[in-house]
Amino acid sequence: MTRPFRPGERVVLADSKGRRYLLALSEGGSFHSHTGIVEHEAVLGCEEGITVRSTTGARYTAMRPTLADFVVQMPRGAQVIYPKDLGAILMLADVHPGVRVLEAGVGSGALSLALVRAGAEVVGYEVRADFAERARANVAAFLGEEAVASRYRVEAADVYAGIAERGLDSIVLDLPEPWQVVKHAESALRPGGILVAYTPSVLQVAHLREVLATSSFELAETVEFLARTWHVEGQAVRPDHRMVAHTGFLTSARLLGPVPGGLKPARTPR
Ligand code: SAH
Repeated sequence: MTRPFRPGERVVLADSKGRRYLLALSEGGSFHSHTGIVEHEAVLGCEEGITVRSTTGARYTAMRPTLADFVVQMPRGAQVIYPKDLGAILMLADVHPGVRVLEAGVGSGALSLALVRAGAEVVGYEVRADFAERARANVAAFLGEEAVASRYRVEAADVYAGIAERGLDSIVLDLPEPWQVVKHAESALRPGGILVAYTPSVLQVAHLREVLATSSFELAETVEFLARTWHVEGQAVRPDHRMVAHTGFLTSARLLGPVPGGLKPARTPR
């Protein structure tokens, strides 16, 4: 099946060093860089994978952006969750087509994109109206208006004040005080439902875990994922000298159903 590039589509131009530039194609448009100019016309009507040259002869390969390409280059207000953590969140929250997920706060919509693309029906709570609008625009830009209309809704709501939804499969949090959401999550999730919180600071982890320990959640776990890229050139095969050494910690837990005898530990007989 052939699918040539059309005006309005996004394309990634990758140079010979692997640097990537994301742009929206337009008739008469041009891409300017230190290596000169690439006219959009050189890409329009061509198949993905085509190589074009700039006015100084530099080589660029044109490809459709992956979700990872898009989230690191899309317009953002708030800091986004990076692809390595987005992938992990989809597994931890067991996201698959048809699951109902609450996300808060929504920020720039990077996590929303990952959730919606994995097939979830997503309700987002976001206190900042401008961020909610940006997130909606970003999700629509990459996944289309139809995906937004059918499976993505953002509400201007403070999740610390409560959650209106019931019977959710999972709740994914990226905000400063996730522990404030634990009580609301107990009523909003179905039994067995999953809570996942992304937090940059270990103090946030400690506080959240303390609150989870006295809640109806079980199987609490905290994990961090480090992605170390490698330099591979001939015999020089070693880790890159620089890495993004820290993004955030991921804490997950599952909601219990009714517990016979209540949550307090049974008194041990003498
Ligand atoms: N995960 C997002 C980034 C979220 S940034 C992404 O990948 O793009 C954190 C967001 O939480 C901010 O936009 C902030 O406005 C929002 N926020 C903070 N407290 C909130 C609350 N109590 N309820 C809802 N949103 C909140």
